[in-house]
Amino acid sequence: MTTIDPRQYIAPAGLLENRVILVTGAGAGIGRAAASTFAGHGASVILCGRTTAKLEQVYDEIVAAGGARPAIAPLCLETATEPDYRKLGESVLAEFGRIDGLLHNAGLLGERTSIANYSATSWNRVLQVNLTAGFLLTKALLPALRESPSASVLFTSSGVGRRGRAYWGAYAVSKFGVEGLSQVLAAELEQTSNIRVNCINPGATRTAMRAAAYPAEDPLALKTPAQIMPAYLYLMGPDSEGLTGASVDAQ
Ligand code: NAP
Repeated sequence: MTTIDPRQYIAPAGLLENRVILVTGAGAGIGRAAASTFAGHGASVILCGRTTAKLEQVYDEIVAAGGARPAIAPLCLETATEPDYRKLGESVLAEFGRIDGLLHNAGLLGERTSIANYSATSWNRVLQVNLTAGFLLTKALLPALRESPSASVLFTSSGVGRRGRAYWGAYAVSKFGVEGLSQVLAAELEQTSNIRVNCINPGATRTAMRAAAYPAEDPLALKTPAQIMPAYLYLMGPDSEGLTGASVDAQ
C-alpha cells in the first residue's frame, strides 16, 4: 500500500463532484481559498461566515469560474445560539438532503498577551468562536452528515494547539480544545457512522490573522492559502477514507 503525503497530494479534477461541503469563515483567508478550491473540484459549497458582503464576493468568484452555484449561510459564531445552529442544520437537510464535508475554519486570534493580563471578555469570545461554535455546528449538522455515504469533518488547529507557547492565551487553549473535540468525536463516530473526523494545522500562511500575530514578518515569505490546499483536498475527498482521529499538517 502506498501512503499519501497530504502536503504533496495531487487532486484529480472532479474529486469533489456531487459533494456538499460547508466552510466556515469562507469570506476571507484560508476559508475563502478552501471554498473556491472545493468548488473548483466539483463541490456544491455552503459559504458560512459573519460578513455577508465577503461571502457574496466569494459566491461571485465561484460562479464566474464555472463552479456549481454556492449557498450562502450568514452566521456569527460569537453570538449564534443553539436554535440558530439547529435552523441551519434543518435548512441544509431540506435543501441538499445531506452534507458530505464540514470545514471548521473560522477563527479569532484574540489578544497576544500573558495569562496574567488576558481579559476575561476576550478569553470567552475566542473560546466561543474557535471551540464552542465548532461543537454546536457539528452537533446541528450530524443528522445531515449521517445521510452522506462518506462524510469528512475537518477542524482547524494550530501549532500552538499541540504545544503551548507564551502569550498565545485563549487562542492556544482553544486549539488544544479543538484537537480534543476532534479526537472525542472521531472515536464516537468511528464504529457507528460513515463520518471521519480530523484536524488540520495550516502552518504559517499569508492571511490577515497571520499578519496580526506577526506584524514584523514579511508576508511574501509565507505560503498563500491557495498553496496549502492539497492537504485540504486530500482530507475532504475520498482518498482519505479510513483516516479518522488524526491531526495533519498542511505544510
Ligand atoms: P483570517 O484571514 O483572519 O480569517 C478568519 C475567518 O474567520 C474570516 O473569514 C472571519 O470572518 C471568520 N470569523 C472570525 N470571527 C467570526 C465569527 N464570529 N463568526 C463567523 N466567522 C468569523 O484567518 P486565517 O489565517 O484564514 O485563519 C483560518 C483558520 O486557520 C483559523 O482557524 C486560524 O486559527 C487557523 N490558522 C491560521 C494560520 C495562519 O498562519 N494563517 C496558522 C495556524 C492556524 P470575517 O472576514 O467576516 O471577519
